[in-house]
Amino acid sequence: MDATIQKTFDDANKIVFLTGAGVSTASGIPDFRSANGLYTKNRNAEYYLSHRYFVSDPDGFYEFCKKNLYFPDAKPNIIHQKQAAFTQQDRAVVITQNIDNLYEEAGTKHLIDFHGNLFHVYCEKCHETVPISEYLRSRLHQKDNGPLRPDVVLYDEGIKQENIINSVKAMQQADLIVIVGTSMKVYPFAGLLEYRNPNAKVIAVNQQLLQLPIEFQMVQADATTFFADLKV
Ligand SMILES: [Zn+2]
Repeated sequence: MDATIQKTFDDANKIVFLTGAGVSTASGIPDFRSANGLYTKNRNAEYYLSHRYFVSDPDGFYEFCKKNLYFPDAKPNIIHQKQAAFTQQDRAVVITQNIDNLYEEAGTKHLIDFHGNLFHVYCEKCHETVPISEYLRSRLHQKDNGPLRPDVVLYDEGIKQENIINSVKAMQQADLIVIVGTSMKVYPFAGLLEYRNPNAKVIAVNQQLLQLPIEFQMVQADATTFFADLKV
């Protein structure tokens, strides 16, 4: 670990971690957008993950989700754990595009699931939440036969207002922004950078070089190694 980078973390009190699929792949969850990912193999994945499809073919939607999205045996890795530790010291917030619940499992205290969470399931008819175990048994709510769905943003739905407001607020207050496991190409998530505190330092930890429309420090490294070395 570069001493100046460690010092940057040591000196920061309002860290924002902006994270994506690369954090989950280290836990064995496939990256939807990678070369071997779901989207390349299956060109219609965006359609399968739309509310239109959820309504028109509920069985198909349910089977698609269970087969391609749920990895209930995946465990948080060192990246989740270290970032969670910063949040437990009230020095950081994680804003993630991941929907796999691993940040919750790692004990992340300040967390924004920008695209929702697969493990939060509710009934579209009565809006009651149900345990994930119930959803994995049946796509219908036992109580009223209403359609159950994961609380994630589908492709034809908008981001929750509350998540946008809280993310923008965190970006405006940040003194250090750390981009991990995402190339920051998917909007509106990528647009969060426009709201950053102009005095905040921006670091990107990624194995491939990133191109961003702002000034930032590139740390070309494996995120797992980087966070294993980083002291909280
Ligand atoms: Zn219901």
